[in-house]
Amino acid sequence: MNETDKTKKTENVNCLEGFKCPECGVLEPFYIEVITTVTMFDEGSDNHGDLTWEDDSYCVCSECEYEGKVKDFKTTKDSIW
Ligand SMILES: [Zn+2]
Repeated sequence: MNETDKTKKTENVNCLEGFKCPECGVLEPFYIEVITTVTMFDEGSDNHGDLTWEDDSYCVCSECEYEGKVKDFKTTKDSIW
């Protein structure tokens, strides 16, 4: 009853809000198939745009290598779309 470790995260609240591995329960990190927009030149891309993903994007847990879709890793089911 003396667990007072306030530095240990119990949930994600930023980029990975609502994310949690359904298999091992780890909160981060995950390998996620992302959609992004970059400024593309013939020589290559010059910067990174915003990263985004969809519920059906491929996602893998870095800890237990559980594979699934983003929606499988989301603990919150409220849709913002
Ligand atoms: Zn896992």
